Amino acid sequence: MTSFAELGLHPRILAALEEAGYTTPTPIQAQAIPQALAGRDVLGIAQTGTGKTAAFALPILHRLASNPGRVARGGCRVLVLSPTRELASQIADSFKAYAKHLPLSIATVFGGVGHAPQQRALARGVDVLVATPGRLIDHLQTRHARLDMTEVLVLDEADQMLDRGFLPAARQIVRQVPKQRLTLFFSATMPADIASLAAEMLNDPARVEVTPVATTAERVNQRAILLEGGRKRAALADILRGEGVGRTLVFARTKHGADKIVKALEQDGLFANAIHGNKGQSQRERALAEFKSGRAPILVATDIAARGIDVPEVTHVIQHELPEVPETYVHRIGRTARAGASGEAIALVAPDELGLLRAIERTTRQRIPLEDMRADRSAPLNDRATPQRPQRGRGGPGGQPQRQKEPRHHEPRPADHRGADPRAQHPRQQEQRGGQHAKPQGPRGGHHAPAPQGRGGDQGRKRPQAGGGRGFLARGP
Ligand code: AMP
Repeated sequence: MTSFAELGLHPRILAALEEAGYTTPTPIQAQAIPQALAGRDVLGIAQTGTGKTAAFALPILHRLASNPGRVARGGCRVLVLSPTRELASQIADSFKAYAKHLPLSIATVFGGVGHAPQQRALARGVDVLVATPGRLIDHLQTRHARLDMTEVLVLDEADQMLDRGFLPAARQIVRQVPKQRLTLFFSATMPADIASLAAEMLNDPARVEVTPVATTAERVNQRAILLEGGRKRAALADILRGEGVGRTLVFARTKHGADKIVKALEQDGLFANAIHGNKGQSQRERALAEFKSGRAPILVATDIAARGIDVPEVTHVIQHELPEVPETYVHRIGRTARAGASGEAIALVAPDELGLLRAIERTTRQRIPLEDMRADRSAPLNDRATPQRPQRGRGGPGGQPQRQKEPRHHEPRPADHRGADPRAQHPRQQEQRGGQHAKPQGPRGGHHAPAPQGRGGDQGRKRPQAGGGRGFLARGP
């Protein structure tokens, strides 16, 4: 089996990968990295969740580490174009994690935030610039950015660029990058417009393709529970005490939310750790060690912190809040069902998150069974397909400040015929539709989260349960 060391990556990158807990390259990484290291353009067909970010980030970092170079004011050595600010942040975070032992600068440029800090970062020149098209064009027009010395160009999630109507902006940017460059092009699907963009941009590319992430999603038994935000805490504790619940990852939308969930679980006699960006390396390592050993088999994580956690036998993934970016849902549930195992993913959905659930179903092209567990089931529901942004301060620990969308002034709205998600028609996607998810095979060494000494035990702390002691979340009659 190929290891990262066998791929010939720089020792400082290998050290960072080890710290991130990566042991083996994913299939897209094993295929793409040698090609990019050899200086060949890559056309990667891979969905999110396959490890595609590292598939392009690692060979790029190796190249930068092996050939140090100065960057001119406003310039970058590597440009990564992303369709959304969320993806841009995630990509930049991945670069930073893998480059933690390298003296490289990594910056992001996207809309919805002030221009000045980005201008300052650009002024120094950066090694890696991760940008959304609209804001990058702003900076190019005001001459705060220049691309004439860019050596490597990455286009990530090209089909999302198409869906969002960003292809003209992307083309405009690509024209400013020297033709003599390395180009890495990734897309989940290859509709005709994307194939022709790839043909324009790439020079004799190696084509690498991996099984779509949906195959992971299909092994995960998914369900969603509709309930009032204020009842999520009790529901979570109920689920965690359930049979067959082993190592469980609980996803929170913010660091603060993650801490609140841990406190609430402790009050319920369940021992959990939080892992997020405010935790130091040693806290992070301890939390992971306790998770792996089973001492604290509940880990409450934010999305960024959860990246790189690769623990076998995560039996359950529980989403305390749904993510605003549908692909994140797929990342989250992919934490269970690793290495061919099956797993269970449960989303706690407040009524004002229903739109997010529907957006996830559209993206994954799967219906997620939804149980209505509201205290008042007669209350009207706004079950439209448009994501309804949860309001500030609602939904228990999930009361979050809302992110803003990338402004669209340079980025035309998708054409009407694309509005309904053109990929729904793609034959490969069609194959993934529907289908029952395999049920997980019964309890697997399930634990009931131990109540550690001194933190209050389970005894006498359990809330009274409705429904014959099975808890109000028990399934079926
Ligand atoms: P991506 O498809 O790039 O968004 O990556 C999906 C997730 O897999 C991210 O959370 C990565 O941190 C994680 N990941 C990527 N490569 C590996 C690897 N070789 N081993 C373990 N986890 C990985």
